[in-house]
Amino acid sequence: MPTLFEKIIAGQLPATVVFRDARVTAFLDIKPAAPVHILIVPNKAIATVNDIADEDEALIGHMVLVARDLAAQHQIAADGYRLIINCNAHGGQEVYHLHMHLLGGRPLGPMVTRI
Ligand code: AMP
Repeated sequence: MPTLFEKIIAGQLPATVVFRDARVTAFLDIKPAAPVHILIVPNKAIATVNDIADEDEALIGHMVLVARDLAAQHQIAADGYRLIINCNAHGGQEVYHLHMHLLGGRPLGPMVTRI
C-alpha cells in the first residue's frame, strides 16, 4: 500500500508543494504546528530512520540542505527553527515514509516535556 506521501510525490494526492527535485519533495503540513511547517520527504520510499541505508547518506544530507534553503526562503533562518524526524511509536511517527519537519515562525518552546 503506498503511503500518503508516496501519493503526494506521485501527484495523486493534492498538496502545496514548495520544492521538488529529483531526490526530494517538500510540501506544507496539512495540520501546521507553527507558522512555517514544511515536510521534506525523500522521493524514494524509506519507511523510518531505522530503514535508512548507508548508501542514503548523501540523500539525508540533501534533505538538511533543502531545509536550510527553505528556512531562508521563508524568512525564519535568523530567528531560528527546528528540524524533527520522528521514528516509530515512541517518536510519534504517523506516516511511514521518512520525513523531516521544518518548523519555525514562533518560539517553539522546549523540545520535549521534561519528566
Ligand atoms: P509524523 O507524526 O512525524 O509522522 O508527521 C506526520 C505529519 O504529516 C503530521 O504533521 C501531519 O499533519 C502531516 N500530514 C498528514 N497527512 C498529510 C497530508 N495529506 N498533507 C500534508 N501533511 C500531512
